[in-house]
Amino acid sequence: MAEPGAEAQQASILLNPGPVTLSEGVRRAAVSQDLCHREPEFLRVQSAVLQGLLNVYGCAAGDWRAVGLGGSGTTAMEAMLASLLPADARLLVLENGVYGERLARIAQAHGITAEPLHQGWGEPLDPARVEAALAQGTFTHLAMVHHETTTGRLNPLPPVADLCERHGVRLLLDAVSSFGAEGLPFDHPALEACAATANKCLHGIPGLAFVVCRKAALASGARRSLYLHLPDWAERQAQQSTPYTPPVNAYLALARALEELAEQGGWQARQARYRALAERVRGCLAGLGVEPWLAPGDSSCVLRSYRLPAGVAYNRVHDGLKRRGFVIYEGQGGLAQEMFRVSTMGEITDADMTRLEAALAEVFGA
Ligand SMILES: *Cc1c(COP(=O)(O)O)cnc(C)c1O
Repeated sequence: MAEPGAEAQQASILLNPGPVTLSEGVRRAAVSQDLCHREPEFLRVQSAVLQGLLNVYGCAAGDWRAVGLGGSGTTAMEAMLASLLPADARLLVLENGVYGERLARIAQAHGITAEPLHQGWGEPLDPARVEAALAQGTFTHLAMVHHETTTGRLNPLPPVADLCERHGVRLLLDAVSSFGAEGLPFDHPALEACAATANKCLHGIPGLAFVVCRKAALASGARRSLYLHLPDWAERQAQQSTPYTPPVNAYLALARALEELAEQGGWQARQARYRALAERVRGCLAGLGVEPWLAPGDSSCVLRSYRLPAGVAYNRVHDGLKRRGFVIYEGQGGLAQEMFRVSTMGEITDADMTRLEAALAEVFGA
């Protein structure tokens, strides 16, 4: 917990893995209009956003649908598993962090037949173990996290997707902290769906979750929930309607955020920008004797985890940075004692980075 008085005087730059620091344009768009969700003014925004989500990775509208629903990223994960898996599905879940374990908990909560392939937090997923599990021939689907935000590790998507294809298994992906900034293989025949959210790499505001999925997957799933049933949302959205009240302001913000992403050069340009910022932080911290928790080549472009130096408490680092205008993130669970995390998502300027370097030098140099 933060010490009393640690709240910054002015708005902080967010270096936590979402919600992110907004651009002025997105912040203004979020509160630009009061809209009824059943009027054409909103429904046009909804359609533009859903099409814009397909455009990020060039998904053909003939094969793919983007389905939006109110909630956080976990809503998208849960809707994906609870509505796209057929009643007789048998799911293999790859775990190497909090979010892989959350996929397994969601499956359990919905009575889905699922088996975890467990590895420790931060361990690399082992394709040989995945291959051995799939070779049993009992699984119909595999669920995994693309970027495991627990540690910043980017999991090896292409080899796992190839294994899925070879064994006739459909791949369901938690891309909550990678959609918009890392490569996603929408042309891979095994990929069935990606769950994600407006408020991470897409730079929108929280409250709007979405799943990009094959149209065929919407037709072959089973109902396990009223609200989370993606075919209901997809059907009504295709009819320029909505089953329930959507997060209107989050749609307004995401519409602007998607325009800005396209203007800035799309996901590839965002990946390059995030990488450059992450490397600047790494270089600065290395000069202060603070080491990465993972080998840099294993990390996503989105977030890096760092080892807390011996004798340095997380709270001192967090509160020192917060007084200087930056919010970082602690390690989850047992990792809280040994690591901290710095995400470089969001509208972060070069001037912010220069101030951050000075702040890190003050906090770690003392
Ligand atoms: C942030 C995140 C989620 C969802 O978290 P919410 O708090 O529900 O938004 C899911 N998976 C990953 C990999 C994430 O980083």
